[in-house]
Amino acid sequence: MDAVIIGAGMGGMTAALALEQIGVTTRVYERVTENKPVGAAISVWSNGVKCLNYLGLSEQTRLLGGIVDSMSYVDGHTGETMCRFSMQPLIDEVGQRPYPIARADLQHMLMDAYGMDRIHFGQTMVAVEDGPDLATAIFADGSTVSADMIIGADGAGSITREYVLGGPVSRRYAGYVNYNGLVAADDAIGPATEWTTYVADGQRVSVMPVAGDRFYFFFDVVEAQGLAYDRTAARAVLRHHFADWAPGVHALIDALNPAATNRVEILDLDPFDTWVKGRVAVLGDAAHNTTPDIGQGGCSAMEDAIALQWAVRDHPGDVHTALQSYQLARAERAGELVLRARKRCDVTHGKDPAVTARWYAELREEDGSNIIRGIVGNIMGGPVTPVE
Ligand SMILES: Cc1cc2nc3c(=O)[nH]c(=O)nc-3n(C[C@H](O)[C@H](O)[C@H](O)COP(=O)(O)OP(=O)(O)OC[C@H]3O[C@@H](n4cnc5c(N)ncnc54)[C@H](O)[C@@H]3O)c2cc1C
Repeated sequence: MDAVIIGAGMGGMTAALALEQIGVTTRVYERVTENKPVGAAISVWSNGVKCLNYLGLSEQTRLLGGIVDSMSYVDGHTGETMCRFSMQPLIDEVGQRPYPIARADLQHMLMDAYGMDRIHFGQTMVAVEDGPDLATAIFADGSTVSADMIIGADGAGSITREYVLGGPVSRRYAGYVNYNGLVAADDAIGPATEWTTYVADGQRVSVMPVAGDRFYFFFDVVEAQGLAYDRTAARAVLRHHFADWAPGVHALIDALNPAATNRVEILDLDPFDTWVKGRVAVLGDAAHNTTPDIGQGGCSAMEDAIALQWAVRDHPGDVHTALQSYQLARAERAGELVLRARKRCDVTHGKDPAVTARWYAELREEDGSNIIRGIVGNIMGGPVTPVE
């Protein structure tokens, strides 16, 4: 069997690695001409880490991951700690430490594991077609490639999804913008092994460690969609939005590199159950585009990759049944995570200010157990984290 994979993001690369693990020949096509991930880092929660372990990348992942021993919530205005708790109960319960990882590091790790020089960069797929014996991808330069199956891991704006669903779908603006980047770890911002989140006014500022004594940081700002962004103004924009916030937030704004600070408008997509048309399937953000509010989009893409492997393994020589079985294994779980993230997004970003105020009050009473229960609920339920 062979597979063509469109997109060399974390979904496409883990899918390629997973399929090759069971002897499927893969070819990966990526529109960008070089590996340049958008965004600074992600939190790979324990389910994502378990997927990477399954793919034989446990040691590399551990070396790239930041050590998060504790989490804290801090009042954005006063700097007062609302709650602080150990991550150990979570690690004990799910059997794996989560790892925040710089995106460039994660992407390199996956591409190197597959073979950087095997990836066909600079190839933009413009159409895909199913056929009785093979499926075919058509590229902008007019070239075509056919295989037993085509896996569209072509991200949130997927054209494979358009093909599978029979038309375009509209994504929904979630109401906030995420400014993110990497900065040297500094106690003035937060403790080196803590995931610190400042909250107030339906906005949040968060830092968490990644390898190399760095913090991944992000600022969630409730602002209109489509505003012009001049990177050089990042510091001024953030100073404006967080003028009366705590000293730790200002230490972060002072330390960040404006030229390397990304502005990402956050959108998501209503879950849908049709992921497959004949020999063509979607995977990752193409199949389930979520807000990042529970940090599960990329983890879910990795879960797709493992589920795809198992479906193909269990239906040798029968692509149609394998892909239907993949869809059945994944659509409900992935859709649930999208809806959970949406719910969390609304609470965090003050959709109903009374609900957000109640959450802030709860954080002051929190000993960690409710938050950990919620995170464990997100982590459990995928292929490598089955619920007993
Ligand atoms: C601000 C932010 C924070 C996030 N934080 C987290 C987090 O903490 N934890 C987590 O698990 N997830 C997080 N996510 C989600 C995560 O980034 C995505 O779920 C993940 O990147 C999806 O991977 P993917 O491979 O499906 O898509 P992508 O990473 O988008 O990759 C798709 C690839 O396909 C290529 N491509 C697209 N169209 C074509 C085409 N026509 N032809 C050829 N190539 C094409 C693109 O160039 C791209 O390289 C976050 C997202 C955002 C926006």
